[in-house]
Amino acid sequence: MTPAQRASRLFGERFDAAPAAVWAAPGRANLIGEHTDYNAGYVLPFALPQVTAAAVAPADDGWTVCSEGHDGTVSFGPENLSPGGVSDWAAYVAGVVWALNEAGVKVPPARIAIASDVPIGAGLSSSAAMECAVLAALVDLGGATLPAQYQARLAQRAENEFVGAPTGIMDQSAATLSRAGQALFLDCRTLAVEHIPFDVAAAGLAVLVVNTNAPHRHVDGEYADRRAVCEASARTLRVPALRDVSVAGLPDALGRLDEVAARRVRHIVTENQRVLDTVKILRTGDIAAIGPLLTASHDSMRDDFEITVPEVDTAVSAALKAGAYGARMTGGGFGGCVLALVDAADADAVASAVASAFEAAGFAPPDSFVVAPSQGAYRAL
Ligand code: ADP
Ligand code: MG
Repeated sequence: MTPAQRASRLFGERFDAAPAAVWAAPGRANLIGEHTDYNAGYVLPFALPQVTAAAVAPADDGWTVCSEGHDGTVSFGPENLSPGGVSDWAAYVAGVVWALNEAGVKVPPARIAIASDVPIGAGLSSSAAMECAVLAALVDLGGATLPAQYQARLAQRAENEFVGAPTGIMDQSAATLSRAGQALFLDCRTLAVEHIPFDVAAAGLAVLVVNTNAPHRHVDGEYADRRAVCEASARTLRVPALRDVSVAGLPDALGRLDEVAARRVRHIVTENQRVLDTVKILRTGDIAAIGPLLTASHDSMRDDFEITVPEVDTAVSAALKAGAYGARMTGGGFGGCVLALVDAADADAVASAVASAFEAAGFAPPDSFVVAPSQGAYRAL
């Protein structure tokens, strides 16, 4: 059963009624451009085939939500609709209702049932998938139409301001705006988006995602530290954001920073350029040729930005050794997933090579799966 069918079934079980609509929104992987978002730079995510589905129907008063794998239901009313008013996983749903209210978008009180096949907490953005599915479903239920980019912005507000997670606009943009066979080139300063051809299957290639299952370590503190160093460095360099430092201007900039800040800045500046270079190559249609850029991105995250962990480094080395064109950690770091660009015929062999390397290193087994760039939020039932 698809997540949409499971959400519909769960709705029936918990509410003894049929949903009025079921919407689905995908998780995402970032092809390249890590930690560039809050430096006003570029990112290049694509949507996964894995989705979170939200089955909804209007209710008389108040909201009641449930999610597969969580016992019972959580209820909240208008009195809970301010940041801090709902806790735990249901805060992501309440945050969406709050953000819609704040924007003056009329949506009716609703019952909501959620089911997902996006791995949770693995850096594939299950949080944005859930927000965007719920948001699209509620907007539909309210008979409103909102531009997709505005929906992404409201879902981001839910996560930033209601849940309290300081994330950029990438995840929600990918979950709403993506198109099958394409990556989403996003300028985080202007919010301009472009769809870039990335039809791996048609090229005989595959993207292998390896969920390292590595426990996330100190993510919040490390994220805050990297962000603070980037912002302080931009002030030292007297630029609005590190996006305004070019690769040509890098040697001069690095000379004005301490050793650690210089390495952090070098990652951001070269990573922004790698996103632009990747887009340029993808436009030529030679997908395999982006491999060295992916691997260079990983090296930069490992050595300069220092956000990798032994599990992700092991997965990248093993994938490259097994013949991947390129491989890198995807997501904010300190655990999470790796993606490898491989010949479609080699995907299983690369996955096995990574699993063997994990066993040899004494790590818990990884989960590997092939993904194709997929579409953003859609009405599923
Ligand atoms: P990621 O977005 O990388 O998966 P996050 O920590 O940002 O990781 O978001 C994970 C959180 O989102 C979960 O801990 C949970 O609170 C919420 N969440 C995501 N998907 C679901 C779901 N299907 N049901 C309930 N909660 C979910
Ligand atoms: Mg998330």
